[in-house]
Amino acid sequence: MTTASELTVQESQASPVWLAALRARVKGDVFVPGVEGYEQARQVWNRSFQHQPAVIVLAENAFDVEAAVQAATTAGLRLVVQATGHGAARLADAGAMLLSLERMTGVRVDVQRRTAVIEGGTKWGEVLRQAQQVGLAPLLGSSPDVGAVGYTLGGGMGWLARKYGMSCDSVNWFDVVTAGGQLVRASETENPDLFWALRGGGGSFGVVTAMEVRLYPVTMVYGGNLFYPAALAKDVLTRFREWVKGNPDELTSSVAIMNFPPIPDVPEPMRGQTFVMVRGLYAGDSKDGAARIREWLDWQQPIMNTWAEMPFSLVKEISAEPEDPMPAFATGAWVRELSDEAIDTIVSRAVSVNGSSPLNVTEFRHAGGAIARVAPEAAAYGNRDGKFLMQIVTVTPTPEAWTAVRDYAEQFRAELKPALTGKVYMNFTEGDERRERTRDGFSEANFARLQALKARYDAANRFDHAFDIPPAARESEAVAE
Ligand SMILES: Cc1cc2nc3c(=O)[nH]c(=O)nc-3n(C[C@H](O)[C@H](O)[C@H](O)COP(=O)(O)OP(=O)(O)OC[C@H]3O[C@@H](n4cnc5c(N)ncnc54)[C@H](O)[C@@H]3O)c2cc1C
Repeated sequence: MTTASELTVQESQASPVWLAALRARVKGDVFVPGVEGYEQARQVWNRSFQHQPAVIVLAENAFDVEAAVQAATTAGLRLVVQATGHGAARLADAGAMLLSLERMTGVRVDVQRRTAVIEGGTKWGEVLRQAQQVGLAPLLGSSPDVGAVGYTLGGGMGWLARKYGMSCDSVNWFDVVTAGGQLVRASETENPDLFWALRGGGGSFGVVTAMEVRLYPVTMVYGGNLFYPAALAKDVLTRFREWVKGNPDELTSSVAIMNFPPIPDVPEPMRGQTFVMVRGLYAGDSKDGAARIREWLDWQQPIMNTWAEMPFSLVKEISAEPEDPMPAFATGAWVRELSDEAIDTIVSRAVSVNGSSPLNVTEFRHAGGAIARVAPEAAAYGNRDGKFLMQIVTVTPTPEAWTAVRDYAEQFRAELKPALTGKVYMNFTEGDERRERTRDGFSEANFARLQALKARYDAANRFDHAFDIPPAARESEAVAE
């Protein structure tokens, strides 16, 4: 293995001019294959995906990002941007530069204005930590290990979503390096159309070096899980469908069918077992939250009940998702109705009886509330009228396991088709699916506007690594605008 300094000496004659110029310009590191640091920097959190880029830039700041974007253009390399690797789409190959933001992790909370400025590679966990210290909360999702910006660019639906909306609806501004390699601000007043596109349109419009989001006064909440036996899956789903109709916006909830794998990482009482869980968070008076959960307890005592008053800083305990990198398959779909037929399909496909289902998690999140109160054309983010959001996640130790689970999930979705809206939530797609189904992530009108804006901001499609939004042809651009 060659070290970076050795390579700099060796490469002094051999390395292309653009690479030497890039190295001289950036504060961060630049790695090429064979150099120490390259292997570590190319990793994706989801180990089922692999980047093999020609060059990796580990940016330290917005100037490094500008330099990297400009160098990729000079070198004729495709650009792939990664913050945490929780949502890879198109992977970086030998014709690509991987621009990693993993060192851009700054957070600045303004307690007076109730805002946080968050750098492009920051994980939600750090924002949560700093905000909770002053009694405020960001709109993170179920895992604090996910990147705040990547999550927000795709919408961002967490346990406060029915009360305070999608994360993309709470952004004040983005600082973004555009395809031309220039840093610009996008807000309601500066580059407002770019601001519109970034709120849901993913990483297709530039590299976000920082964003400012609004925070909310949430400290103690009521949250947890009811663990029911798998045999009650049909009854729980049927009750859940009716129960959510009466739920206030303070309550964001889901039902998750969990086939816990028989591995040592899973705590003893759950290991190798299947449960149907009623989970969620009540962001209001805990007594009111407890009253809503009492309806379940009065119906059937669960095997285990973890619902309790808790500090919002511990919100990750509700879904208890793994944080260590792992190989996994994930997909999702918007569900129009949990009809009796749909519930039968869900039970037969998602509940594992003697290993009949390879799926680890099949979850249905209740949407609506504040998400649906924003006009569908207010931001690029689409599908505000979806009622239930399905998500499937499974650990896939081998490529063969990944393919088998993908095929199983496709079959499951095909059987469920009459109950689905035909739309997807972009954040719950990844890999090829994230690109193949991009149109289904948006309304027709919003997708057309995204294409028109793509033609204006990135006509050469330099940012073709995230969602697949081909720039509109010139004549349709004129119509759309
Ligand atoms: C365990 C787990 C839990 C999750 N929970 C939720 C949840 O509760 N709610 C929800 O809505 N989603 C959830 N997600 C999905 C997650 O929000 C998406 O996968 C998201 O795309 C991840 O963003 P990232 O930056 O962490 O990942 P990355 O793979 O680094 O990035 C994902 C995409 O965003 C782009 N991107 C990231 N940062 C920037 C930037 N600064 N500028 C430009 N483009 C950028 C990347 O180029 C890439 O296309 C979860 C995912 C996992 C794995």
